This record gives sequence, structure tokens and C-alpha cells, in this order.
Amino acid sequence: MLKLYNSATHRKEEFVPNEPGKVSMYTCGPTVYHFAHIGNLRTYIMEDILDRYLRYSGYEVKRVMNITDVGHLSSDGDTGEDKMLKGAKREKKTVMEIARYYTDCFFADAEKLHIRRPDVIEPATQCIDDFIKVISALIEKGFAYEAGGNIYFDTSKLKEYYIFNDFSSEDLAVGVREGVEEDGNKRNKADFVLWFTKSKFEDQELKWDSPFGVGYPGWHIECSCISMKHLGERLDIHCGGIDNAFPHHTNEIAQSEAYLGHKWCNYWMHVLHLNTDSGKMSKSKGEFLTVSLLESKGYDPVVYRFFCLQSHYRRSLVFSYENLDNAAVAYRKLIARIAALKAKQGEAIEQEKLEALRAKFASALDNDLNTSLAITAIYDVLKSDANVATKRAAIADFDTVLCVDLLKNADAYAAEEAKKAEAAANTVRVYSDDPEIRAIEEAIDARAAAKKAKNYAEADRIRAELLAKGIVLTDTAQGTTWSKA
Ligand code: AMP
Ligand code: ZN
Repeated sequence: MLKLYNSATHRKEEFVPNEPGKVSMYTCGPTVYHFAHIGNLRTYIMEDILDRYLRYSGYEVKRVMNITDVGHLSSDGDTGEDKMLKGAKREKKTVMEIARYYTDCFFADAEKLHIRRPDVIEPATQCIDDFIKVISALIEKGFAYEAGGNIYFDTSKLKEYYIFNDFSSEDLAVGVREGVEEDGNKRNKADFVLWFTKSKFEDQELKWDSPFGVGYPGWHIECSCISMKHLGERLDIHCGGIDNAFPHHTNEIAQSEAYLGHKWCNYWMHVLHLNTDSGKMSKSKGEFLTVSLLESKGYDPVVYRFFCLQSHYRRSLVFSYENLDNAAVAYRKLIARIAALKAKQGEAIEQEKLEALRAKFASALDNDLNTSLAITAIYDVLKSDANVATKRAAIADFDTVLCVDLLKNADAYAAEEAKKAEAAANTVRVYSDDPEIRAIEEAIDARAAAKKAKNYAEADRIRAELLAKGIVLTDTAQGTTWSKA
């Protein structure tokens, strides 16, 4: 039974979907003004684990992700420049060119990290009519008002606004003091923009006609409308990074429930941030950490996924190359151990043992997606008394969720090792010119041949004969070496 921590109720809850056997899942997609950094991708990796684990558990999942290509301003509130416009100016391209380019880059990175493509991917600019419909209804119901040319959501009309409790109007006021200009049009400090016609940045490139004037949508309305468009009025799970909880998700709940007149989403999953040693990860400060940068430094993207899985999604995680190197070493050791499982032809899977191993794996993920325990379940497989076919079947099964190329890389590793051993066996020995040394070398080779033929008595006899002459043999992975006693 899957238990998930629900940020809206602040506790771990048994997951029960609206419709038995089916799950609707919405994920806030990227703002496509730049490459995704590996922090963004931590969130998408952990959401991918949820998506894949739900499917593994037998649910039919429909997952929707938006692409934010308009309306996300530099502050997550209603101030600052549109991020897309900023990207377009930086690269002297149009907003749509920027959007297309970085959307493709995002999905290319996601593929490298084995993040499953959502069933529906919807750019905000494709849904303007849907936004207008919902905003018009909110005005009609008295939840929205016009001021200074913009349309605002009136948070004072709600019984409860701060759903995630981590923020209060006091915190918001601090945000305002920290140099964000206060918008004098707002009736209440927490009100937010649904539709802009007037903003400090009159040069907004993308504008649409609407009953409220020519303008563009706010960021929050995008996710509410795109979710409702594809997943209906009752959503099972909504996910995002923790920074999305406020104001973005708080505003999504406010406007969706005001529009629908009933509860909208049952479970909220938030992934904590990936930070650097010096604090918050950023696209402008310090080294811009992308998947391509990691690749250029020789890391397999799958190692980054493994690094993320080693910790729980509700704990913030510190990225450093040292930490990533530790994950890479652990990963390589794990792969080497799996590679040692040599499949025997015709060996049958021991079903009962396989089920017991699967149960351990599932109980780890059932507990609010404890991925580090799920990795421990792989070591349990290696230690178990099951036969090789069963062990390999269990590992293949777990990897449909973890997706860190376990058997693929183990088989590649085993093939590489076999190649090395073959090359070593085929090297023609060049004997020493010194007759005494040559005799020792020949004896070593004769001993190796005896061992290969399983004639251990002969091998031991040769070793003893050399020892009697004061020559000590040492067996290493690379072959046998000798020294004088
Ligand atoms: P954005 O492209 O800025 O809209 O963000 C995409 C996703 O990444 C959102 O779900 C954010 O909450 C999430 N996110 C942003 N920064 C981080 C970070 N440092 N660590 C983890 N997730 C993040
Ligand atoms: Zn969103």
C-alpha cells in the first residue's frame, strides 16, 4: 500500500486515487528560457520515480506536464521581467525560437536521465482560450477584479489561502521588503495577476486579444487550466519543486477551487532542492550545472540519477563533485557485483524467492518513495540465496523503476572483463634472455597451464619446486609474479 507525504495535509497518507486503478498526475514543467540545471532535474527525476512506481504498482497513469513559455516573471510573484523575454533578449532571438530550442534541450536531458516523457506535454501559449474561459468565470463569480488594466485574483474571498502553511502574510511582506516592488493595484497583498495588460515591460513580445484587453496570462493560471483541460475537475497528484509550493501552487489551488466550486487536487508532492556548497543553485551564479557539463567532465548521466536516488526526495541534497564521485564509485562497485552474476543456461527463475525480493523493494518505495532503501534492496538481491536467474530477474524488475541501467552496464562490464582476460591469455610471452630467469618464467607458465587443466597437484608441485630454489610466487589479477625469498 503506497503511502505518500502530502504537503497539503502535512502528513504521510495512504494513496487512494479518485478512480480505482487510475491516477491523474500533473507536473509543473520547465520555464524554457534557458537550459535546465541539475537541480531542476532532481525534481523531475524524483517525479519520474513516482510516475514509474505507480505504473509498476499496476496503476494506469495519465501524466500531464506544461511548458511555461509565457508569463513566468523573474520573481515567482507578479513583478520583474518575463523570463522568456529575458532569454530572447540575451540570445537575440524571438521568444518562440527560444522556447522551441530549450524545450528540445529539456527533453534531450530528460531522456539521458531516463525520465519518462509525460503522456501530455502542453505549452502554455497553446491554451490561451482555456485561460480566458476560466478567468472570465472567476470575474463572473466575484473572485477576480480589474485594476490598473490587469485582472487580479481576490484572495480575501477565500476561507483559506495558505494551504501549505509554510508561508504567512508576514513572510510575503518580507519578500516585498526585499526589493520587490509592491503592486499598488492589488486589493490585498496576496492577490495575484491572472491576466496582464499593463506591466512595467510594455515590450512583451507575445500578446493576445481577450475580453480584458490585449495582454498575456499570468504563470499560475497556466497550470490550473492545463491540468483541468487534460485531467478533469478532480486531480489525484500534483507535483513540483518545493519553491513552487508558494506562491505558485497556493495560487493554483485558490483559482482552481474558486472556479470549480469544490476540492481540486488530493495529493501534493514537493521535492526539496538540490543546493551547492555555497547555497541555492542558480542559472546565473557560479558554474551553470547542466547535464552536458557533467558529461563533458566524464560522468554518465545515469550516475547523476543514481546520486539523486541515494537520498530521500523530502530532504535537501548538497551537490559537490566529491559527492558525485562517491556516488560514481558506489555505482561502479554495484555494477561489478552484478556483472559477477553469470547466467547459467536453462536455469529457471525461483518464483517464490523473486516475489519475496520484489516485496522488499516495493515496501521501500511504498514508504513515501524511499529510494535509498530501494537501492539497498538491490544489495539484498545480491546477498540472497536465490539462483542467478532469479537474481537477474529481480534486478531487471527493480530497474524498470530505478532506471539506472543495472543489467545493461553490468553486461557491458562483464564483456569488457572477458575481453581483457582473453587479450591477456593471447599475449605471447617474450621470455628473458637470461637462462635462469627464463627457467622461472617457463615454470610459471607450466603452472598456469596445469591450473587451467585443473591439475592442482602439478601446479602445487611446481610452486614447491621453485620455493625450494628460493623463488616465491604471488598470484595477482594480472597474472603470477615472482620474487627471491
Ligand atoms: P522552472 O524551470 O524554474 O520553472 O523550474 C522547474 C522545476 O525545477 C520546478 O519544479 C522547480 O520547483 C524545480 N526547481 C527549481 N530549482 C530547484 C533546485 N535547486 N532543486 C530542485 N528543484 C528545483
Ligand atoms: Zn505549475
